[in-house]
Amino acid sequence: MTAELNPLVDEARRTGTISGLPGQHWIDGQRCPSVAGGRMETLDPGTGRAFATVAAGDAADVERAIAAARKALTGPWGSMVPAERGRILARTATLIRACADRLAIVEALDAGKRLVEAQGDVGGAARAFEYYSGACDKFQGSSIPLGPDYIAYTRHEPIGVVAQIVPWNYPISTLVRGLAPALAAGCTVVAKPAEQTPLTALMLGEILAEAGLPAGVFNVVTGTGAKVGEPLVAHPGIDHITFTGSVATGIRVMQNAAPQVTRLALELGGKSPVIVLADADLDAALDGVMGAIFENAGQICSAGSRLIVERAVHDRFVEMLVERARGLRLGHGLRDVDMGPVNSLAQIERISGFVERARRRGAAILCGGRIATDPETGLGWFYEPTILDGLSPDDEAIQSEIFGPVLCVQVAETVEHAVTLANGTPYALVAGIYTRDLSNAHRIAARVDAGQVYINEFFAGGIETPFGGNRASGFGRAKGLEALASFSKLKCVTARL
Ligand code: NAD
Repeated sequence: MTAELNPLVDEARRTGTISGLPGQHWIDGQRCPSVAGGRMETLDPGTGRAFATVAAGDAADVERAIAAARKALTGPWGSMVPAERGRILARTATLIRACADRLAIVEALDAGKRLVEAQGDVGGAARAFEYYSGACDKFQGSSIPLGPDYIAYTRHEPIGVVAQIVPWNYPISTLVRGLAPALAAGCTVVAKPAEQTPLTALMLGEILAEAGLPAGVFNVVTGTGAKVGEPLVAHPGIDHITFTGSVATGIRVMQNAAPQVTRLALELGGKSPVIVLADADLDAALDGVMGAIFENAGQICSAGSRLIVERAVHDRFVEMLVERARGLRLGHGLRDVDMGPVNSLAQIERISGFVERARRRGAAILCGGRIATDPETGLGWFYEPTILDGLSPDDEAIQSEIFGPVLCVQVAETVEHAVTLANGTPYALVAGIYTRDLSNAHRIAARVDAGQVYINEFFAGGIETPFGGNRASGFGRAKGLEALASFSKLKCVTARL
């Protein structure tokens, strides 16, 4: 916590905003307005009211940002020794920590997060820069033994200009987990934050400049997917795309990247299972499942949105869950609440549509199931913590990503059945397992299709642990040392001596 925290929270609660927010694109190391002069509002989901405006860009702004990023590849950044890149990233981590509360409050207002969650995201962003700062000068190639008459070695070369498309649910976290390894590998970046949550990306531009990042290495163009995202991913000046968002948009991005044969990594959605076996520590599992689905009001790609529970403990465990879910206090993220708002009216309507259709199909709605407002103000976009039971494995609510605080319960007769249910959707992002039998847990871990498996703690791990999906959840891996490889081109040099 910094000395800024309480005065800033007071200001935000009194005025609905905070002063000094950035409102222009960040291109070539400076703030700049849209070429066409467009502006757009950004809304606080906790009140439904606009609290800031930013530039609304288009293809002309994208063009300027890509030109700056291409030029920066061959400027001081291109010739900088890796250890110096590392020092810039380390200074960035320090500067993020110095203004962590300001960043967290802006993130809480923009995304509708609880302050404590936003503080976690900002702390994670600092940690990501710290982690990759130490990797810059250790990202080594290898030598390949071909006998006495040859020498062969590999080089990791920066992939070039990276386009990074970011969703609204974890704005700073998702941006930084792509940006920090891209910079560590020596790339330059043009980022497009989600139109709902543009602010922390712009603030990061200024922080990186203060840390010594040369102009043009990191650029941010704000605006919609149609006007900024489309021309960005289709541009021949882009060498790699990191896209995080929905499956439908991911497919469109692939199609737009294909004519230029642009490399890409897709981090898409999920419908992740949490398996609770009869021998689990049910209190630990209760904490795990609650966090897995109600953290960030369920708007998490890796949310544990399906509980797969063994029949022997179904009734007892579901009763514990319902009691806990009914006790959650909803409200604006800058107050002391248990669950914040949903990010937009469109998202509320989407969640409500899924629950109403499940209700009509005869699903048991064990708690929640209604749109709500902040009980203190009557404002904002909230949805009650909801638990659905009695759904068949092919039900729409089991098969689709709802992306809200809605948990779907499935009953498993055996461990074998639990694995079958876990693998029974198009998605394969993460899976959780709660059991006291660790041998069994590792056998299940090998058989569930997921990019990452959490045993006895959902969301275990950090920037060190690789993250990504299989099948409809996408491909490529963020975080860990694996992420560095995705931002480099491997070159093999072979010489006859
Ligand atoms: P979205 O696909 O609507 O938008 C994501 C981003 O893509 C936004 O910045 C948007 O402006 C941009 N965009 C939209 N159309 C575009 C186009 N034609 N070309 C280029 N860019 C375009 O997704 P969303 O609703 O913002 O985010 C929620 C989705 O993101 C969920 O499905 C969630 O699971 C997924 N997500 C995945 C991860 C992960 O790591 N796997 C993390 C967070 C969110």
